[in-house]
Amino acid sequence: MGPGDPAVDRLVGFRAMGAPVLSAYVGVPPDPSEIKGVHARFLSVLQPVRDMVESDAFTHAQRESLRTDIDRVLEVASRATEMHGHAVGVFACRLADLYEEVQLPKPVRNRAIVDATPYVRPLLEVLDEAHRYLVVVVARDNAWFYEFSLGKLEAGTRVKGRHQRKRDYGGWNGFDEYHARNRAEELARRHYRETAAVIEEMLATTAAELVVVAGHEETVAEFLALLPRALRDKVVGSFVVDPHTMTPGRVREQADDVVAGYELREETRLVADVLDRVGSRGLGAAGLRWCLLAANEKGIERLLVHDEREHPGRTCDRCGWLGLDDQECPVDGSPTRPVPDVIDEIASVVLASSGRVEHVFTDTRLETLGIAAFLRFPVPAPA
Ligand SMILES: [Zn+2]
Repeated sequence: MGPGDPAVDRLVGFRAMGAPVLSAYVGVPPDPSEIKGVHARFLSVLQPVRDMVESDAFTHAQRESLRTDIDRVLEVASRATEMHGHAVGVFACRLADLYEEVQLPKPVRNRAIVDATPYVRPLLEVLDEAHRYLVVVVARDNAWFYEFSLGKLEAGTRVKGRHQRKRDYGGWNGFDEYHARNRAEELARRHYRETAAVIEEMLATTAAELVVVAGHEETVAEFLALLPRALRDKVVGSFVVDPHTMTPGRVREQADDVVAGYELREETRLVADVLDRVGSRGLGAAGLRWCLLAANEKGIERLLVHDEREHPGRTCDRCGWLGLDDQECPVDGSPTRPVPDVIDEIASVVLASSGRVEHVFTDTRLETLGIAAFLRFPVPAPA
């Protein structure tokens, strides 16, 4: 995604003069038996927009445009069974002739937003995340490299990876086949080392940071045993596949499972780590009030948000202060204005100061706290 991809570039650069853009993100359950609830989910995500359309905020033309756009987003629900992503992002503005639909490889917060520009931040976050994984299928004399990419898109729109390679395997980008055709058994070890070197090079030159290894069980074991320690630490899991009969779809499905399992463990670990820091008065903050203090001091290095947690709050347009109730900015005395979701505002501040934002979808202690943060410097808890 990003620079170079026409669809994403169009979304990022899109400005509609006087035309409202509807951006919607809706989760799609991976289990087809749950698909019945999808239409209801789309309806509930879009409800605030439907209410708003009937308000006086729009001209007749804008209202008509939004109504069409809402219908187009609802139509996506009927195609949800064909989607293999975990969520879908839709960006529509009939007045300005915009329609893009993007399947996302992991869950995002459900939401619908109307603005003068497409709301692309969640999309960019997910795309960045998706490129963290490199999948390597190893045989004794050959190796295949795959990189995470977005799922196939409906309606002819595709958003592809930043590191698009020569072949497109329908959602997965096949890497140049690495032909080290060492047929002799005793050369297998050399082939494994060469493969490891290619992986190291790819980790250094692409956005990939983590590795999934696949192949016959014994091959995977041999290969993993030969990896240098530093590289071994980057392997998040493995799965069994027969390289002679594998299909890109099957590889993707199994890699998805491995990655999902890893992310679940990782989320649990992150929450435990941040709460450890809070408990030991280290560089951690927990709960909305404390995280607001830390965000106002630009002290958040990594923000953890439970699932789709939202909370109304207030902001000062003059200095950017964020808070819950103050009608007057405590920094400069300007009048503050309400924001529908102050957690989202905190996330923006964190991203703007080169921090990271993680949404935790697993059940952890974060569920009661809502949000927590790894800090750059100590920020005392609120009184
Ligand atoms: Zn202020």
